[in-house]
Amino acid sequence: MRAFGRSAYGTGRVSRQRVSIALVVDASPDRAFSAEDLAALVRLDDPGIGLATVYRALAAMESSGFIEPVGERNGAVVYARCVDAGHHHHVVCTCCGMVEDAECPVGGTSAGANGFRITGHRLVLYGICPSCQRAAPEPGDEPGRGRFRVRPASRRAG
Ligand SMILES: [Zn+2]
Ligand SMILES: [Zn+2]
Ligand SMILES: [Zn+2]
Repeated sequence: MRAFGRSAYGTGRVSRQRVSIALVVDASPDRAFSAEDLAALVRLDDPGIGLATVYRALAAMESSGFIEPVGERNGAVVYARCVDAGHHHHVVCTCCGMVEDAECPVGGTSAGANGFRITGHRLVLYGICPSCQRAAPEPGDEPGRGRFRVRPASRRAG
C-alpha cells in the first residue's frame, strides 16, 4: 500500500484517507470525474472524508502525474487516471464520461501565428463514445451537457 500511495502522490503526503482516494481513482481508469464525483464515491467506503481532503488529494495526484485534467463539466474540472507518459490528449464522452487517449492532432511546435514560437498546448476533445451513440442516435453536441457516471470502486482489502 505504501508503494501505491507513493505512485499516486509522488513526494506528497500519503495518509490512509489519501490511499483510499487513490484506490477509487485507480479503479475507474477510463472515466472522467469531478472532485464532487470522487468525494461521493470515496464516502461510500469512508464517510468521514471531507471535500477539502479530496481537493487536496486531487491537486497532489495531478502534480505527481497520476491523474490529468481532461476537460470540464458545468464549470468543474474533470480528471482521469492517465498511465501513458508520452504526449497525447484525451477525448471525453459527454454522455457517460468515458475517457480515451487521443493522438495529438496539432503536431509539435509548428510555427504559430503572429510570430509566436509555440512551446506547448493543451487540448480538450469532447465526443460521444460508441456505446452512447448506439444508446442514443440523436446525441447532444454541447460539451459538458451530459452527466458523468462513475462506477463505484469495488471494495479492496487493505
Ligand atoms: Zn492518457
Ligand atoms: Zn459514452
Ligand atoms: Zn498535442
